[in-house]
Amino acid sequence: MRLNETPLFSAEQIRNRVIALGREITQHYQGQEIILVVVLKGAIVFAADLMRALDMDVTLNFIRAKSYVGTESRGTVSFSLLPETLLEDRHILLLDDILDTGRTCSEILAWLNKHRPASVRLCTLLNKPGRRVIPVEADFTGFTVEDHYVVGYGLDFDERYRHLPGIHVLEA
Ligand code: 5GP
Ligand code: MG
Repeated sequence: MRLNETPLFSAEQIRNRVIALGREITQHYQGQEIILVVVLKGAIVFAADLMRALDMDVTLNFIRAKSYVGTESRGTVSFSLLPETLLEDRHILLLDDILDTGRTCSEILAWLNKHRPASVRLCTLLNKPGRRVIPVEADFTGFTVEDHYVVGYGLDFDERYRHLPGIHVLEA
């Protein structure tokens, strides 16, 4: 795999888009307080920038997926919030790095909805609509991308490249 040195989205393009997203989200919630639930690890850079572009009250939380491969629960994924927070009657905004097949987000959304929140919305930095297997759509999207494997700005390949300020295509 080879990193394309020319960013698909430069740090400046990302900064501008995140500020616009922040305005859109602030307007949408009309002063209501929300819980940001950030999907570890890929969404942390996006979350750090986006939360500072929001002009509203937010609290910050993280969600981690655990897969069990035991005999009783083979292939199932469970989620935990770090730390535990009550979600009942709260407005939740789920922040993920990229919406691809939709499997991860649809499972997380179903899990969050079990906790009887007032509302759950999905905000994803990147969206690959052409790859969807499960019909899930984001309420707020940074950029739409073609079917490329992308890294940087939090996104990794084998834990590498998360630190890059722009988003780059990893070529085969
Ligand atoms: P899903 O297929 O469940 O929608 O996406 C699952 C996860 O796969 C995403 O949250 C992201 O972590 C990872 N993923 C999907 N496409 C890409 C990509 O192009 N680059 C990177 N770094 N991760 C991706
Ligand atoms: Mg992810």
